[in-house]
Amino acid sequence: MAELLSVDLALERILSDKTRLPAEQVALDDALDRVLAEDITADISIPAFANSSMDGYAVRAADVQNASSSAPVSLRVVADIPAGTFPTIMLRQGEAARIMTGAPLPSGADAVVPVEHTDSVFSQDGMTPPPEQIQVFQALGSGDYVRPAGEDIEAGQRVLAAGTLLRAQEIGVLAALGRAVVPVIRRPRVAILSTGNELTEVGKPLQPGAIYDSNSHTLAGLVRTHGGEAIRIPRALDTQEDVRRRFQQALDAEPDIVISSAGVSVGAFDVVRTVLAELGQVDFWRINLRPGKPLAYGHLGGVPFFGLPGNPVSAMITFDVFVRPVMMALSGRPDSWTTIQVVAGHAFDSDGRRSYLRVKLQRENGLVIATTTGTQSSGALTSMVLADALLIIPEGVRRVEAGAVLEARLLRPIV
Ligand code: AMP
Ligand code: MG
Repeated sequence: MAELLSVDLALERILSDKTRLPAEQVALDDALDRVLAEDITADISIPAFANSSMDGYAVRAADVQNASSSAPVSLRVVADIPAGTFPTIMLRQGEAARIMTGAPLPSGADAVVPVEHTDSVFSQDGMTPPPEQIQVFQALGSGDYVRPAGEDIEAGQRVLAAGTLLRAQEIGVLAALGRAVVPVIRRPRVAILSTGNELTEVGKPLQPGAIYDSNSHTLAGLVRTHGGEAIRIPRALDTQEDVRRRFQQALDAEPDIVISSAGVSVGAFDVVRTVLAELGQVDFWRINLRPGKPLAYGHLGGVPFFGLPGNPVSAMITFDVFVRPVMMALSGRPDSWTTIQVVAGHAFDSDGRRSYLRVKLQRENGLVIATTTGTQSSGALTSMVLADALLIIPEGVRRVEAGAVLEARLLRPIV
């Protein structure tokens, strides 16, 4: 038997020429879940001005440094500062200004006394004019209940680094800085093609001997899950003409990656092989991987191409192992691949290839225990539905005993 190519070596070859896609400008809200293409430097401070963190009265802290409920300090109210206004007054000794949360402090003031520490009561609608005098029951230090200018962000500061995956909070920061458009890395466009006479598109009646094409939908889901744009091409029949026509259609969509499924196993690939040889340069690899031994990889018209196996679980796992890292390299997304250490709940047999077995995970006494989901047939797609993780049996290992510690690739957050 010819030697199998190791997963790591195959991946190293695949990743060797992959670089980041260019940036594009998108509207702020469309930047969610995208990768920031450039550093973002603040051109304003946030807050832009010192403001009150409470509804209350702006005061000079020195005036009330000895105030208490038994010895209140009386201040004259000289102004009213609702949010959205900018005070022009100068607060002098013995004076206070009614102020709302977020409103700018008047000059001269250096603290805010919350309304509940005064004898004043704010009306619900805030429409009642402030009293002429207030009693302050609480001693204050300079800066109390004041959010200084630049407390959150200083103008000129780098706030977000290129390469950041934008979540709701990053979108909020960009909004607070007034950015309406955001430079993000272009999403990888991935053309997805199924091959096989037996394949029927969902929604159409199933003829005897036929099956529905699930792979192109699974793969489109994976592409989108990993931040790509999926372009499904209609399935190709097992004829040279049709395979050629569909691959050409895939390339016409100007993809960054082309993926096909099926037609790469021995006996199936002659048609596909001929067409791939016409369109580009593709190698047929036998990988030391289970499931997913046959893999075609190369370039078609300069575009990276993956010929994944047809079996639905094999297609998913080879995508995860080989295509996903390419998508990460093109998009700059942080890798979502998380492995944890788990304990084999029973013995597992393997065949010496690196194996990704579908397992359920359960927490027991601070350990995470892995047990099989049942059949490990690469045609049984529900094993991927049941699985919490893929248990990784390393190359060269044919059996692991119960209690062995292994790595597992999480497919969903562990409960
Ligand atoms: P092949 O690589 O063409 O020998 O296909 C291997 C197995 O995967 C066969 O059982 C196919 O019917 C199945 N298969 C191939 N393509 C798909 C697809 N798009 N969706 C579901 N199963 C498929
Ligand atoms: Mg086939």
